[in-house]
This record gives sequence, C-alpha cells and structure tokens, in this order.
Amino acid sequence: SWLPGYSVLITGGGSGIGRAVADRFVTEGASVAIFGNDAAQLAEAAAGSPDPSRVLTVEGDVRSSADLHRAVAATVTRFGRLDTLVANAGIWDFQRQLTRLDAAALEATFDELFSVNVKGYLLAAEAAWRELVKTRGSIIMTLSNASFHVNGGGPVYTASKHAALGLMRELAYELAPKVRVNGVACGGMNTDLRGPASLDMGERSIGASFAKKRPDAPPPVIPLHDSSTDPRDFTGSYVLLASREQSGPITGQAISVDGGIGVRGFGSPAGGDHL
Ligand code: NAD
Repeated sequence: SWLPGYSVLITGGGSGIGRAVADRFVTEGASVAIFGNDAAQLAEAAAGSPDPSRVLTVEGDVRSSADLHRAVAATVTRFGRLDTLVANAGIWDFQRQLTRLDAAALEATFDELFSVNVKGYLLAAEAAWRELVKTRGSIIMTLSNASFHVNGGGPVYTASKHAALGLMRELAYELAPKVRVNGVACGGMNTDLRGPASLDMGERSIGASFAKKRPDAPPPVIPLHDSSTDPRDFTGSYVLLASREQSGPITGQAISVDGGIGVRGFGSPAGGDHL
C-alpha cells in the first residue's frame, strides 16, 4: 500500500470523485476525514468504506472558515496528525453561457460558485497549512479540464477552475519547502455534481446526463474517447501526489486526467482509430 498511516482530510468526500479518493486512500492504508454539507450522504459514504473504522465524518460548509478549522481539529484529534488535504468540494454551472444569463442571475451565480470553488479551496488551505507544515504534508486540489480549456463549463465555472489553478501554483510557492501543493485536472466523470442554487440548479446532477446518454450517441471528442467516466478510475493521480515517496520533488503541478484533450486532432479527435 502507498499511503500507510497517512491522515487525510477531503472536502466533498461524501460523493463523486471525493468519495472515490476516500475509498482508494483507505485501501492504500490511510485514515480519512470526509467533510461535506450533507450529513446523510457522509454517513452512507463512511458505512460503505472499505474500512469504516478509519473514516471520520465532519459536516460543514466549505464557505465557512470556522467549519474548516473544526474539521482540521477533529481530524488531528482523531488520527493524531494531518498529512494531506484534498480540496475538492465544488459545483458546476452546467455550461450556462453568458448570453443566457441576465445580470442579476450572473451576479448571484458568480458569488455562489466562486465562494464554493475558489474561496472554499483557499479557506481549506488556510485551515490546514499549520498542521501540514508539521508533517511535511501536501495539498491536492481537484482541478478540471476547465482549468485549461474552454466549454467544460460556462464563463463562471471556467473562470473558477482557472482561478483554482492559479491558487494551486501560488500556494505551491508560498508553502514551499515544507508543503507541496498540486492538482488533478479531471475530465468528465459520472458523479453527482450539482449546480448553483442561484440558478435553481441545486438539485440538478451531472449524473442525469450520463444516465440519459443513448448507447448509439457519438463518443466524446477526445483522443481516449473510450476511456472510463467512473470516478474510481481517476484516483491514481491523487495517490501519486499524496505519497511523499512517489512524488517528493513534485509541487505546483497539475496532472490532466482527461482522456487527452490537449492532444486532440483537428480532423478527428483520435489519430489511431483505424488501429
Ligand atoms: P459531487 O457532487 O459528486 O461531489 C461534490 C461534493 O461536494 C458533494 O459531496 C457535495 O455535497 C459537496 N459540496 C458541494 N458544495 C459544498 C459546500 N458548499 N460545502 C461542503 N460540501 C459541499 O461532484 P464531483 O464531480 O465529484 O465534484 C468534485 C470536484 O470535481 C469539483 O471540484 C468539480 O468541479 C470537479 N470536477 C468534476 C468533473 C465531473 O465531470 N464530474 C470534471 C472535472 C472536475
């Protein structure tokens, strides 16, 4: 196992990629605190863990510094230390374009989405850095193809994920040499990713569009168009970046786990479809 005895705090750890990372880290020998705003979801995720005795649940909102400080304190009290913070809780704008937002909706959506996706990451880092300095630990941020490319969101989500990339790089500088800060830029995954309440999208889930997909629908326009969208298949880079042994000299980097969007062809997404 790659993470024996590690103590990890994961925001948004009750669902989607956060839950998949929590399960994987437990399998790799870590203890994990999963933090989120849905108590029932957290309880279900803990009960379903490969080893529930190594899972702590903490209810709270990533927009609240007090909640995040409480989560760090609870993690250290229970597991004795903090090695890794996975800043991950986020919401999506369902690719709502500028021209389909009136001014009031735009303002409200920006404030809500940036509070969760950007301020939430920054507040989590502020709550955790003192403990991470003690352990020479690291921060891993869930970034997105929208940290680099267009149309993975609307302007609000894309800007938030570009901002999170900048935040990751700035904190990698500021917290060096004791704390490494990296990101995993995920492509499309079949999760329960929700939208902003400001757009009445609090109950809308990205999972519904995966469920609706017809078997004869065209494949995604990416080179690895037959790659999995199961969040469990995106967890390897988190293990790599958390492990001091495996990535000790790596900081300020984002690993794109997106099926190769950056090497997409003009004529056809994959050059080797005939092989
Ligand atoms: P998800 O909804 O399954 O998981 C997000 C978790 O965050 C949930 O447990 C939710 O309850 C929690 N959360 C949301 N707002 C919160 C708040 N204010 N306070 C506390 N907890 C809150 O969705 P997911 O797809 O696993 O999303 C995780 C991350 O992955 C996000 O940062 C998202 O932007 C990113 N991402 C997702 C995709 C995708 O296609 N699903 C692609 C790239 C990046």
